[in-house]
Amino acid sequence: MQAQYLFEPAPIPALPVEGEAALFPVRRIFCVGRNYAAHAAEMGAEVDRDAPWYFNKSAHALCQSGARIPMPPETADCHYEMEFVVAIGAEAKRVTAADALTVVFGYGSGIDLTRRDLQAVAKEKRRPWDLGKDFENAAIIGPLTPAGAFGEIAGQTLWLDHDDVRVQQAPLSDMVWSVPEIIADLSRFYTLLPGDLIMTGTPAGVGPVHPGSRLTGCIDGLMPVEVTLAEG
Ligand code: MN
Repeated sequence: MQAQYLFEPAPIPALPVEGEAALFPVRRIFCVGRNYAAHAAEMGAEVDRDAPWYFNKSAHALCQSGARIPMPPETADCHYEMEFVVAIGAEAKRVTAADALTVVFGYGSGIDLTRRDLQAVAKEKRRPWDLGKDFENAAIIGPLTPAGAFGEIAGQTLWLDHDDVRVQQAPLSDMVWSVPEIIADLSRFYTLLPGDLIMTGTPAGVGPVHPGSRLTGCIDGLMPVEVTLAEG
């Protein structure tokens, strides 16, 4: 029997896929902290080389590429962070790094929008990062490209333009924890399932948006991600 709901359930967050009519339904969004040494340094922090660590965004924080979004509320310092996004396509539970790529569906270009001032308060007061990281339109992600079409993760360049000025650029090989290492580690704590996304951290060059900001980012071999911040 079909379940009945008190009100219409929210639509399932989903991403388009290059060369596919069907959408990729999004389940969870995991984010890796401090995965590029140069970004950790610009934030006055050091990379933790013992193990990767994470924070999460709600799937309902997902924003489609090409959107025009309002300036996020309650922040005077909202930052862009350009990231390589991994889309999981099969179950992974305590998978080894050697086998980790077999559970990958594909990859995308993503922007982790961050209320830096609220994140700074959270860090100082030893509170969770949710207010700084998990809010509406905080995970802007472009169409996914199937893993086979992208090929091996090597030194592909990740970049972001803010108002047509290049502000972030780094090779994926600068990641402290590789994609197989991240999947293997995360799958110890969670049973990864199709629909899960992993935002793998940002390189140096993060900075604030302003009303009217235009952000365009990409990783070589993937589809771009674009977003515009509203003027008013
Ligand atoms: Mn990030």
